Amino acid sequence: MKRERCGELREKDVGRRVTLAGWVQAVRDFGSLTFVDLRDSSGIVQLVFRGNEKARELGREDVIKVSGMVVRRESPNPVLPTGTVEVAVEELEILAKSKPLPFLPDEEVRASDETRLRFRFLDLRRPRMQKNLRLRHKVAMAIREYLDAHGFIEVETPMLTRSTPEGARDFLVPSRLEPGKFYALPQSPQLFKQILVCSGVERYFQIVRCFRDEDLRADRQPEFTQLDLEMAFLEDPEELFSLLEGLVSHVFRKVLGVEIATPFPRIPYAEAMARYGSDKPDLRFGMELLDLTDLFWGTDFRVFSEAVARGEVIRALPVPGGAKKSRTELLKLEEIAKSFGVGGLLWAKREETITSPFLKHVGEGVLAGAMSRAGLNFGDLLLLAAGPEKAVSQALGELRLRLARELGLIPEDVWAFAWIVDFPLFKVGENGRLESEHHPFTSPKDEDLPYLESDPLRVRAKCYDLVLNGVELASGSIRIHRRDLQERVFKILGIGPEEAERRFGFFLRALEYGAPPHGGIAFGLDRWVMMLAGESSIREVIAFPKTATGACPLTGAPAEVDEAQLRELHIKLDL
Ligand code: ASP
Repeated sequence: MKRERCGELREKDVGRRVTLAGWVQAVRDFGSLTFVDLRDSSGIVQLVFRGNEKARELGREDVIKVSGMVVRRESPNPVLPTGTVEVAVEELEILAKSKPLPFLPDEEVRASDETRLRFRFLDLRRPRMQKNLRLRHKVAMAIREYLDAHGFIEVETPMLTRSTPEGARDFLVPSRLEPGKFYALPQSPQLFKQILVCSGVERYFQIVRCFRDEDLRADRQPEFTQLDLEMAFLEDPEELFSLLEGLVSHVFRKVLGVEIATPFPRIPYAEAMARYGSDKPDLRFGMELLDLTDLFWGTDFRVFSEAVARGEVIRALPVPGGAKKSRTELLKLEEIAKSFGVGGLLWAKREETITSPFLKHVGEGVLAGAMSRAGLNFGDLLLLAAGPEKAVSQALGELRLRLARELGLIPEDVWAFAWIVDFPLFKVGENGRLESEHHPFTSPKDEDLPYLESDPLRVRAKCYDLVLNGVELASGSIRIHRRDLQERVFKILGIGPEEAERRFGFFLRALEYGAPPHGGIAFGLDRWVMMLAGESSIREVIAFPKTATGACPLTGAPAEVDEAQLRELHIKLDL
């Protein structure tokens, strides 16, 4: 359709005859004079109709085509970029009427999430959603531009494949041609990208959909998008870090016009846990945890002395301005701390004097010492917990985030990145068995190899996360590139040679014919775009997301299928 763009008309166009098409944003009817705001993806312009009966009947979201003269507006609208002009319509064609709307596709939407998703085609017309879609596109463009310039090529990998071990449940697809067999949708292209570097693709990337059939806690989607990346001849993660710092800076510059300071700090996992109680610390603010074991262990306060005797720790969280927290609020914080497995939460406030329920047990001098070590002054609060190191750190880490939020201590418009390094290779899973902290293809650190069998939990991995404002943005590792080491790691994970051959034989073979050292990473693209867009849910940056129960209200998926389809697949339902 030959047409011009609504949002681009300016005073220089006055006197020109134009044809426009778009959606009706608003109708103001004054009898002989009707004003219509017309919207297309470029913006809005005012149309004016004189004595046009058809125009009077237009309604919100009708699609029309008009031709007319651009004229200067009598009363300009400073809010609109086109606000100095309007189009005096001579011809009007109604291309499509809209039914009465379930909600107006305006900036502020008044509809439930379910309704928004069911009528997603309306929801996506909202300026904010249009902006998010465009921003996402810009991010993808900037990523491709940067990686292309650095010698990476984008290679597609299969969607119908075998199970990939990222630790989640697979989505399965039954095979019609081989009854009783199933494909799995990839949880990530992990093994394919490793096979690609073994195939001579020295620098691979892909913006790729991944599928994980998890209970959708928090803000997750069963299908999500990763920026997946792998490099041959990568031995030192530092090489990848500087390349990716360049990528991240490029994207921020292109998309937001923001300069990001590099290099990002590198923080070992153990240090992140000790200082922030989290392996994805939010570094936009301080409130670092303190170990006060040395200060308190000698006091005759039993809670402390017994904990220290058990080899546990005493840690504290300084809370600037926290003295105003009431007893009830502090009890609520204690409940949260307890849910992480610490026995209790102690507090001390610095006001005219130091007040604390355990003041008399430890003495004012010790508490004053603790307060000054934490840099606390009048009006501040110190929270203390004693117990096993991990529980104490995690509990205080959670309170750190909550209190910083509640007390308004987190600055806006700050982008605080960090690489978290030296994760443990294994963790103890729910069933008490060892599991990979990252995934089974992650290389142990060379200096920890001697403990692989004898003390596996001591072994650190060549694995890293990129964290931004307390969110894990990317996660990756240097991989194992020798079959013998890969088999040793499988064995520790309880995957014997037969199972390894059955599940990963195709991959192990690729390691036997000249596999270069390699490593890579994957970014959670939805989350990254969400943060760039200033949104708080990834659903706002995915065109057609699913609900918390994995349903798509737009299409009604998942849905029943015909009996005949099931028969073809040799499937009988047993519900
Ligand atoms: N495949 C990994 C993941 O999805 C990322 C990586 O190790 O590159 O988390």
